[in-house]
Amino acid sequence: MNLLSKKILFMKLLKNLFIAAGCLVCVTSHAVDLPLVYILGTGGTIQSKGDTRMTLHDYRAGRYDISELVEALPELQDVARIEAKQVTNIGSPSMTPVVWKELAETINALAAENPEIAGFVLTHGTNTLEETAWFLHLTVKTDRPVVVVGAQRPATAISGDGPMNLYNAVKVAASEDARNKGVMIAMNQQINSAREGTKTSAYKVEAFQSRDLGLLGVIDPDGVRFYREPTRRHTIFSEFSVSEISEWPRVDVVESYAGAPGDIIEFLIRSGSKGIVLSGHGAGGSSPEQSTQFKAATDQGIIVIAASRTGSGRVIQGTRMEESGILAGDNLLPHKARILLQLALASGLDKPAIERILEQY
Ligand code: ASP
Repeated sequence: MNLLSKKILFMKLLKNLFIAAGCLVCVTSHAVDLPLVYILGTGGTIQSKGDTRMTLHDYRAGRYDISELVEALPELQDVARIEAKQVTNIGSPSMTPVVWKELAETINALAAENPEIAGFVLTHGTNTLEETAWFLHLTVKTDRPVVVVGAQRPATAISGDGPMNLYNAVKVAASEDARNKGVMIAMNQQINSAREGTKTSAYKVEAFQSRDLGLLGVIDPDGVRFYREPTRRHTIFSEFSVSEISEWPRVDVVESYAGAPGDIIEFLIRSGSKGIVLSGHGAGGSSPEQSTQFKAATDQGIIVIAASRTGSGRVIQGTRMEESGILAGDNLLPHKARILLQLALASGLDKPAIERILEQY
């Protein structure tokens, strides 16, 4: 090789080096500019394994670690810088207030320690997802978005919805517009508030809806768009502090139906239930036998809240309910009224205060 060829080769090498260095700077600064999203894994179908690609039920929930989900989705790197931690890896039927408290405290600690975190994503089984979301809506102390996400189809299934749901949840958590909207449920390109969002289908991928009140927003290919925001107290506006709670009182839900007996309520009174939510027919109705027992419960200081099993509309205070000492659950779904009541009792609130929180949250 003559001197000129050596010189040309050297120049080419130098040029390639500059291009490579330039790209590196460009990739690094691009990544540094992106918001930081913290993902907490709790399990469910989104982290599940089935025996075949057509196993759509009878699969095993909570088998993949959250790091495997993130690794399998390199597209996340275009949306946010990701940090992830597996808190627990369970099917959501096994979720408990003890884990809820741990989740709330973890989010509160991370938010306090690291102002760089733009938002949080929580993976969860869909069965009780809305309960965890609602609990966190009442207890996390941050204005940054907390987005709860799951999947209707196992991670191993054909057309699994988990990866797109997770990608979209990160988009919401990274969005400036998602601030101050409390805890949200993001599934199937739709954003529901934790207060009203509820699972309305056993297998369809369009599982979550907010019935009367509708979606908060949507996640489309061009971005996250919000159309309304929660008006009730939540997160930094909430009075509840989980760190001060050490015990969860027993609070139950009793459904009413034609011919419903009262002895189940008698059993709950004997078992030390501190609160009972009536999942009533219509606007919070119960059978005569149940009504007698609810009166017996309130006479003993047990808080009874009437909600509606219809999933739509409000339960309002009336003369008969008032005479029985029963509180009206507004438009909270029975299992959501149960969580608010449990949190209120665990926080030491009395009956007038519980009546107030039913109007404010
Ligand atoms: N069995 C699952 C669970 O709730 C269902 C799901 O994740 O969608 O954990």
